Amino acid sequence: MGRSVLVTGGNRGIGLSIARAFAAQGDQVAVTYRGKPPPEGLFGVRCDVTDAEQVDAAFKEIEEHQGAVEVLVSNAGITDDTLLMRMGEEQFTRVVDTNLTGAYRVAKRACRGMLKARWGRMIFISSVVGLTGGPGQINYAASKAGLIGVARSVVREMGNRNITANVVAPGFVSTDMTDAVSDERREVILNQVPAGRYGRVDEIAAAVTFLASEPAGYITGAVLPVDGGLGMGH
Ligand code: NDP
Repeated sequence: MGRSVLVTGGNRGIGLSIARAFAAQGDQVAVTYRGKPPPEGLFGVRCDVTDAEQVDAAFKEIEEHQGAVEVLVSNAGITDDTLLMRMGEEQFTRVVDTNLTGAYRVAKRACRGMLKARWGRMIFISSVVGLTGGPGQINYAASKAGLIGVARSVVREMGNRNITANVVAPGFVSTDMTDAVSDERREVILNQVPAGRYGRVDEIAAAVTFLASEPAGYITGAVLPVDGGLGMGH
C-alpha cells in the first residue's frame, strides 16, 4: 500500500490533477472539497481551510480511513483581484486567510503525525505571482510569497526528522481560476512566457509527486517554478 496523501482543494483544477497523479502511483489519496465532491477513487472530506475545527475534523476522518497524513499538499487557494487603491481590508484578509493561514492550519495539523512517524513531505502550491508580484494582486501575491516563509520555517524546525517542505510556483495554468482572467490580460501574460504556451495541470502534478518521492528526500526549502520560464530570475 502507498502513502497516505492529503491534497487540499483536490476536487478540481490543479489539486485534482495532483490527487490523480498520487492515486495513479498507488497512494491512498484524500482530498478536501467544499462544494462539488471529487470523482470516484479519491477519498473526499468536506473541509473549509479557513476553519480550524473543520480542518481538525477532516484530519480525524482521514486518519481513520487511511492513517496519518504522510504527504500534505496545501493547494486550496482563491483570487480576488483589484488594484490596491480599491482593495478593501476584508478582501485582502479573506484571500490571505484561505491561501496562507489555511496552509498554516493544515501544516500544523499534519506535522503531529509526521513528527511521530519521523517522516513527512509538505508541498505548498504558491505562484509565480508570489515571486514577481502582479497588478491587482496585492492580497494574492502576499499570500503566495508568505508560503515560502512557512515552508522554510518548517524546514528549520523539522528538517532533521526526515520531513521536507517545498514550494511549487506554477505559472499560468488553464483552470476555473484563470478562466476569470480577461482575454486581454491572457494575451499580455502569454507574450511573457518564454515557452510560448500556458501550463497544464499534469505538469504541476509531476513536480509535486517528484518532491514527495523518496529520492527527493534531500530537496527541502526549495521553490520550484513550473512556469514555462515566466518567472525566471526570481
Ligand atoms: P481552482 O479555482 O480551479 O480550484 C481552487 C481549489 O481550491 C478548489 O478545489 C477549491 O475548492 C479550493 N478552495 C478554495 N478555497 C477554499 C477553502 N476556503 N477551503 C478549502 N478549499 C478551498 O484553482 P486552481 O486549480 O487553478 O488553483 C489551485 C492552486 O494553484 C491555488 O492555490 C492557486 O493559487 C494555485 N495557482 C494556480 C495557477 C493557475 O494558473 N491556475 C497559477 C499559480 C498558482 P471548492 O471546489 O470547494 O471551491
